[in-house]
Amino acid sequence: MKGRFNVVIVGAGVTGLTIAALLSQGQHSDRMRLTLVDAMERPQYSADDDITLRVSAIANGSAALLERIGAWSAVRETRACAFDRMRVWDESSALESAETLRFDAAEFAVSQLGFIVENSLLRHAILGVLAAADIEFVFASPIQALRQDGQRFCLQLDDARELKADLIIGADGAQSFIRQSVAIGTHDWPYGQAAFVTHLRPEKPHRNTAWQRFLRNGPLGMLPLPDGRLSIVWTTTEEQADWAMSASEEELGKSLSEASDQVLGALTVAGPRGKFALVARHAKHYVKSGIALIGDAAHAVHPLAGQGANLGLQDAATLADVVETALGNGEHPGDRPVLRRYERARKGANAAMLHFMTGLNHLFATDLALIGELRTTGMRLFNCSGPIREHVAGVALGTER
Ligand SMILES: Cc1cc2nc3c(=O)[nH]c(=O)nc-3n(C[C@H](O)[C@H](O)[C@H](O)COP(=O)(O)OP(=O)(O)OC[C@H]3O[C@@H](n4cnc5c(N)ncnc54)[C@H](O)[C@@H]3O)c2cc1C
Repeated sequence: MKGRFNVVIVGAGVTGLTIAALLSQGQHSDRMRLTLVDAMERPQYSADDDITLRVSAIANGSAALLERIGAWSAVRETRACAFDRMRVWDESSALESAETLRFDAAEFAVSQLGFIVENSLLRHAILGVLAAADIEFVFASPIQALRQDGQRFCLQLDDARELKADLIIGADGAQSFIRQSVAIGTHDWPYGQAAFVTHLRPEKPHRNTAWQRFLRNGPLGMLPLPDGRLSIVWTTTEEQADWAMSASEEELGKSLSEASDQVLGALTVAGPRGKFALVARHAKHYVKSGIALIGDAAHAVHPLAGQGANLGLQDAATLADVVETALGNGEHPGDRPVLRRYERARKGANAAMLHFMTGLNHLFATDLALIGELRTTGMRLFNCSGPIREHVAGVALGTER
């Protein structure tokens, strides 16, 4: 194979930026011409500003990947909150009960279970790494059209410029333009729920613990922030999320304190508010000749276990490996049989996580007495089962797939 490969990454979210870094640092980077396109302006971040609204629980495995590309030290030095305990319980039982799922870092011989990090900080840190890379950035330029050019595709940018690509990596999020343009269908399972997010100041210290209380309308997740506040994701009905967006600070604080069963005392609203529609979505295919989808473009999962970005990072690592290996073997990395190696490695694992999250959400959202009984018995048994606990913890920590 002669000449350089044109690889165009569409989407400068966490997954798109990570694969850009991996490819630019790979053994065969000199054989690729990398372009990264995003519809939005280049993201800005300042540690002098307040903690931003969108945060993610980053598993240890994902932190290791970010370390590998050289972005993690900037994240840690700026502000990331390590958490070493997790408590998951159902509204029908008390936090202190035997049914509460308890995970402690010490039990799994790790320093922490994960980190709570602002999405904007993650992007800022990876962009910092990419400053030294041989990549063309095209910000503020939504893709206008995708045209088939033989076996490959050509992208038309906002300014009418055309980009020929030997491989397009669609990292353009849940509404992926790339996925839709090449007619890759999706399986969709609407949850009939919305996620309300904000920051809260708890009366008692959060003790670097991630809390999740399952309520009939959906789970309330409370994640520790480095300044003592909590970032909450309240999955609930559309109506209740709309109410939360417009309720007074006093009403909202009171309602969330009740929803948390006051485990951290009274909660005071201390941040902006946001609402997100929730849907479980899985692309029927991840690849076509000349195209590969990664991250939310390929799969959207329920935020209850904080796995969406972590799965996207694993996609990025796997696809980068497949492309590197193909180049090393003299294969064309845009060919479908090559890209299928990536699809085979990731699609099943992502489907398992997606269905597990959907099932868990339904299991806890039911009022049926028998299911309620099975649920509490299951949680008690889970607490006593060493191997199952270790496997689930391994997946959540990102050290096991
Ligand atoms: C409430 C909530 C809480 C969550 N909590 C967690 C958590 O704790 N842990 C976790 O791992 N995950 C979490 N997630 C999921 C996580 O946020 C997503 O999985 C992750 O951000 C997806 O990253 P991405 O890079 O694939 O896509 P995105 O972040 O959506 O990035 C897509 C990029 O593509 C660009 N783009 C879109 N269309 C075009 C176009 N036509 N042309 C050019 N560019 C385009 C966009 O501008 C954007 O920059 C949560 C999600 C929600 C809703």
